[in-house]
Amino acid sequence: MAKQTSLHCSFCGRGRDEVKILIAGQEGHICENCVEHAQDIITQELGLKEQATGNSDSSKGGSSSNFKLNIRKPAEIKKFLDEYIIGQDDAKRVITVAVYNHFKRINQKQTNDDVEIEKSNIVMVGETGTGKTLLAKTIARLLNVPFAIVDATVFTEAGYVGEDVESMLTRLLQNCNYDVKAAERGIVYVDEIDKIARKGDNPSITRDVSGEGVQQGLLKMLEGTEVLVPPQGGRKHPEQKMIKVDTKNILFICGGAFDGIDKVIARRVNTNAIGFNVNKESQEYQRNNLLQFINAQDLKSFGLIPELLGRLPIVTYLNPLDAETLRSILTVPKNSLIKQYNRLFEFEGIELTFDEEVYHFMVEKAMEYKLGARGLRSICESILTDAMFELPGSGEKKLHITLDYAESKFSKSKLSLLKVA
Ligand code: ADP
Repeated sequence: MAKQTSLHCSFCGRGRDEVKILIAGQEGHICENCVEHAQDIITQELGLKEQATGNSDSSKGGSSSNFKLNIRKPAEIKKFLDEYIIGQDDAKRVITVAVYNHFKRINQKQTNDDVEIEKSNIVMVGETGTGKTLLAKTIARLLNVPFAIVDATVFTEAGYVGEDVESMLTRLLQNCNYDVKAAERGIVYVDEIDKIARKGDNPSITRDVSGEGVQQGLLKMLEGTEVLVPPQGGRKHPEQKMIKVDTKNILFICGGAFDGIDKVIARRVNTNAIGFNVNKESQEYQRNNLLQFINAQDLKSFGLIPELLGRLPIVTYLNPLDAETLRSILTVPKNSLIKQYNRLFEFEGIELTFDEEVYHFMVEKAMEYKLGARGLRSICESILTDAMFELPGSGEKKLHITLDYAESKFSKSKLSLLKVA
């Protein structure tokens, strides 16, 4: 029998010159394409088998492949948060402890006594752009759990136009590639929770489609229940195949600006007369920073129903950002805006530098235009867009931004027209 003498892949038959790598075995060879193909088959087969036998890591209550839970001590979590988020120490401490306890709760062994740690879902109150989403996102990244951001305003009571509250779990599932076990220990950040507050004090004058109804819809989910989730989101319909998700161990973090809540707090605090502080200066400070006294009672007065508040036991607040904090946000966090722009220019082989006054100018404009931290990005963009357009390919090796340059670019930008009265 004629034996094939030239080297070739024993699986696909490709010759030596048609492949990059040919690995030799005892009686044959395999090329890189076939190795990859074989790997795919193995992954698929093993995955299916584990699902069938319920033998995967995830179904044992441990972590699934891509989401190995990274439990850290509170001080470590706080340190990590400090690298990305400026200030907001109170919120960081409260959330760190809540998250730590949450994961202790997930890992608790069944005991015979009746001690059962309850869920520590969180509400964060703070103006828009103060870092609420950033906090939740950074925690999820550190712990390596699936994370979803949803907006409470898109939800409506079942039966009305809009999304069912269950669709927030769709988002979570999508973000972890439908790994149900991982999603069941994920974190959902529900933004704008204040927008589903009950309007007015009387709950039943008219049906409150977007407010109380949605709060009711959230109750079970926050506490922990098995929810049938439409894989593609939107409305449920009878023929749709649903995925069952248990929300018992999902941590819900809600955030909202709760505009005007300081007045509610002031009313309460004043009626309770702060008798503990005789120092005038310090009393003034307390008055200007009422948010630090926030509690569930204030959120109830704002229109969140008591049942919902009962399932959101941790209440914390974020301070408004002052000029000093905005200045730090520009350069201090690990992935600060300026570091990001430096990197963008580095890709072009250009060294980007700024005069210190430029940073102050940016902060000043962000405050003047009431744009907060989110505005810093648009301001940077308005100053640097021309350079980012013109410099690539120009051979320039350095770009130094002076105050004059920043002022002139900013004044020509659309952003400068936005000034609020
Ligand atoms: P919120 O959810 O409170 O409206 P975000 O968390 O979305 O605000 O913040 C918007 C952006 O502002 C963030 O992506 C981040 O760049 C920046 N930012 C806000 N607060 C801080 C902070 N305390 N430290 C660092 N960056 C911040």
